[in-house]
Amino acid sequence: MLRVNVTFEQVRELAQRTVTDVRYPVVKSYTLDAIWVLYDRVLRVDPQRLDDPSRDRFLLSKGHGPSAFYAVLAAKGFIPAEWLDGIAALESPLGSHPDATLVPGAEISSGSLGHGLPLGVGLAHGLRATGFGDSRVFTLVGDAELDEGSNHEAIAYAGAVGLANLNVIVADNGSASHGWPGGVASRFTVNCWSAATVDMADHEALYRSFTAPHPDRPHVTVAVSETTPH
Ligand SMILES: [Mg+2]
Repeated sequence: MLRVNVTFEQVRELAQRTVTDVRYPVVKSYTLDAIWVLYDRVLRVDPQRLDDPSRDRFLLSKGHGPSAFYAVLAAKGFIPAEWLDGIAALESPLGSHPDATLVPGAEISSGSLGHGLPLGVGLAHGLRATGFGDSRVFTLVGDAELDEGSNHEAIAYAGAVGLANLNVIVADNGSASHGWPGGVASRFTVNCWSAATVDMADHEALYRSFTAPHPDRPHVTVAVSETTPH
């Protein structure tokens, strides 16, 4: 099942196999670039060692758009690619929202927005407190998801305590009711985070931001997409 040397074009084809995921057609896969770069070049994770306590963690907070996540899990050998063809079917482990009890490699069940970043704060804190501070937590949220108040508490707290093993990716397609153009990064930097705003389609820029040193504070990557807002 483990695949090697899968290309971005091939993982994009895998994402297209989730065509029956029609509940949120616009958000189906525009996060694919960021999730792909993470799993292909950044995360220390292994489908053969799902319970390794020193692994990095990826939390898909934006669980209402799981197609890209499922495609990358298939490309990297966490799940069989055949599962993609039955997404959201009654007997399928792949729901319209990911279920961590059914999907190998899914760290959290998600879809109810505003939970992933607070969970990421707790997870990063717990790793640091138990001697696994070198393990990194990456949480992907949507720009509109930042309208949920729970995020603001998490952002303020993580900045105040210098939670350096916490990373957030904001998939910014200009869809937030309370946001403003170019304003996402400032929500974090005012709370002592480091930040980079990049083009979602620029894989090298994503990689540089995901691996940028931030030894005394958490880091956010705002990945801007031209996708139609949803
Ligand atoms: Mg959005």
